[in-house]
Amino acid sequence: MPDDLYQRYQAAHRTHQAHIRTCTRCTDTARCPDGQRLFEAFARLQDAFLARQRDQRRR
Ligand SMILES: [Zn+2]
Repeated sequence: MPDDLYQRYQAAHRTHQAHIRTCTRCTDTARCPDGQRLFEAFARLQDAFLARQRDQRRR
């Protein structure tokens, strides 16, 4: 069964990584507004994914 949340989490990760590779304003310590937005989208999905994994293990 396709895991939609996991797919979106991975896609957000790839999108953010691709942005960092091509962006001239993002560094290891600072993010441009676009990079920040992509990072937050990724972080939200990662949190949701990890929280759901914890829930599933508890059952
Ligand atoms: Zn950037």
